[in-house]
Amino acid sequence: MYRRYHLPTDSAPDVTSLPSPFRVKVSKPGLAGFLLKELIQYRGSRTIILNRPCMYGVFSGPVGGFAPRDHLCVGCLRCTTQYPEFVRILPNPARVSLGDSYFTPDRVDAVCYEARSGKIPVKGAGYRGPFGGDGWDGLWTDMSEIVRPTRDGIHGREFISTVIDIGAKPSRLTFANGQPKGEAPQVFSIPIPVFFDAPPASLLTDTFVKTLTAAAEATETLVVLPVESLSKTVPRGRHIVPSITRAQLGALEQLGFEPAMLELDGWDQQFFAQVQVQFPRSVICLRMELPATDALLRAVASGVRVFHLLANYHGRGSDGRFATDLFREAHQALVAERCRDEVTILGGGGIIAAEHVPKAIICGCDGVSLDTPLLVALQAQFAGEARSRNASSFELPSRFTVDWGVMRITNLVASWRDQLLEVMGAMGLREVRRMRGEMGRAMFQTDLEKEAFSDIAGYVS
Ligand code: SF4
Repeated sequence: MYRRYHLPTDSAPDVTSLPSPFRVKVSKPGLAGFLLKELIQYRGSRTIILNRPCMYGVFSGPVGGFAPRDHLCVGCLRCTTQYPEFVRILPNPARVSLGDSYFTPDRVDAVCYEARSGKIPVKGAGYRGPFGGDGWDGLWTDMSEIVRPTRDGIHGREFISTVIDIGAKPSRLTFANGQPKGEAPQVFSIPIPVFFDAPPASLLTDTFVKTLTAAAEATETLVVLPVESLSKTVPRGRHIVPSITRAQLGALEQLGFEPAMLELDGWDQQFFAQVQVQFPRSVICLRMELPATDALLRAVASGVRVFHLLANYHGRGSDGRFATDLFREAHQALVAERCRDEVTILGGGGIIAAEHVPKAIICGCDGVSLDTPLLVALQAQFAGEARSRNASSFELPSRFTVDWGVMRITNLVASWRDQLLEVMGAMGLREVRRMRGEMGRAMFQTDLEKEAFSDIAGYVS
């Protein structure tokens, strides 16, 4: 029976209030002098005198501008433009604690808004940032009119598919007497190209694990969890992807269910073969740190068909290169070996905004894993720079419940999926599977600059 994938969203307010972006500084003597002047000028008319310029109510508290309500300020700067002699709008230094140098406060704001409302953040004043930069900002998707015939189909008549297939896909099927023989596809599908990665070990409490598993079930995707975190109280299901090391092989005996996928943390041919024998109907995925091209090709030659390639939380591989380059390199190595369509690449690390999902897919990932955005959606506090997956760089709020967490993550996923549909609609793509490795639909800033400026003396790429 056909069922259209849909995620129901609902309001899930923040449990800890975010510091406001601005501080409104009003000079009290300056304001008092101004009011006195107006009292005389308007002959004591309260209507005129108390009609302060902020339409957002910053100066509408009991004592008006003498105690401005910072949390209402949107930074339109009207007041400081009109009364520069006694009003100043400053950035709030408390906002720095919201994230780190990669997951900036603005990114945290966006993720919190998405998790709170399930909606797409829209900035009415337009985009005021740079049009290029490092990392994800150096990749632009092609949304020119000529490539977008499906523009009106995003939520309406035409359906855009976000389903991806995970598993081993042989390059061809062979039949004997009408029956398939030889290697058969071993794949399963998830309705969105996004799943959840294991959080740092310091956060693996029972409540948090239950939240992640329930959210994965609600959104019909997967969650990777270390096998030791699956206590008896965590409800089992095919959406759970146990991650195991060689030393934990024995733990699989007590697993108690057949997962859709298992993740091997570390490569060993014998280990791979043993898990295959134990779970013949589960897809076996190999978790690898980026860069991984040589090891990836060796593992493909040994029979592995699904890979989870990971950069650190700032999107960098161990050699310092960014995830976009590393995903492209892995994808292109498989294309050169003529086995790309037989292999599934799942990428992760540094994917912190909705637009990073299509960009990672364009760079060659079939699907992507989310890590820090889940923690930010649950209002985890950063304790310094969060680069490494093993560092205890986060602290979850104390007022945290499973139901609230599931709603926040569901809202986040719904918002990111809607934004993925927007990008695909604008690019004229009806299927996310066809977006994988579609580098012809992307522009890379470094390539464009090289093309335009390389003949000019002094140009350095
Ligand atoms: S900057 Fe705009 S929103 Fe903020 S206090 Fe001034 S007038 Fe109000």
